[in-house]
Amino acid sequence: MHARWILYLQRFTFVLKHKSGSQNRVADALSRQSTLLLQLNTEITGLQCLKDLYATDKDFMKIWAECLEQPSSGDYAIRHGFLFKMNALCVPESSWRQQLIRELHCGGLAAHVGRDKTIEQLQSRFFWPHLRRDVSKFIERCSVCQSYKGNGQNTGLYMPLPVPTTIWEDLSLDFVLGLPRTKRGNDSIMVVVDRFSKMAHFIACKKTFDALNIARLFFNEIIRLHGIPRSLTSDRDVKFVIFGANFGNASKLTLI
Ligand SMILES: [Zn+2]
Repeated sequence: MHARWILYLQRFTFVLKHKSGSQNRVADALSRQSTLLLQLNTEITGLQCLKDLYATDKDFMKIWAECLEQPSSGDYAIRHGFLFKMNALCVPESSWRQQLIRELHCGGLAAHVGRDKTIEQLQSRFFWPHLRRDVSKFIERCSVCQSYKGNGQNTGLYMPLPVPTTIWEDLSLDFVLGLPRTKRGNDSIMVVVDRFSKMAHFIACKKTFDALNIARLFFNEIIRLHGIPRSLTSDRDVKFVIFGANFGNASKLTLI
């Protein structure tokens, strides 16, 4: 194959020059846009519907028409039928915008991260005018965020963790997210570590699981084998307050 290419290329006069990735903006943008589309197609059902909205959308109809005439117009370009601003997918005015904010802020195992973090995560993949304003409004109305809002983040003193004295009494819980999806639809791993022995359980789960699903999984996989622990440490704040509520008052478990 290689030899055939050399024969073919010998017909032309050319000089080979290396162009670094940072200089080769066009190729970089094209590959990034394609990768993003591939990724979104697996994450979002019905993504294709967006294509039909550009032509009549008040925010993008003008730029859409321009791009149809001229393949790339300023920062904008059409790729596989979708409109892009640089590397971000343009989202027409529709329920999609709210849905994307919801998914990133509080869908599945998303941890109700703050406004700036939500904006940053959205902007890395999507664009629409007033995205920041829409996210701010959404978070102001998010009942979970409002009810657990403290007096600013990390202003309190760090609480020392209880020192474990025996096995499977003080546990820590975390997630590895965003793995390739298995045949059963799992794409994340719940990691439960016994803080005394450092023994760990790795349990397959889905990114879309909510607190109730996680609590069930925890019952079936951990409590079934080791009983109810004394404490459970996790950094995913709000989700685990809800998670704790699912244990009911009968449990002696403390969430840290
Ligand atoms: Zn929230």
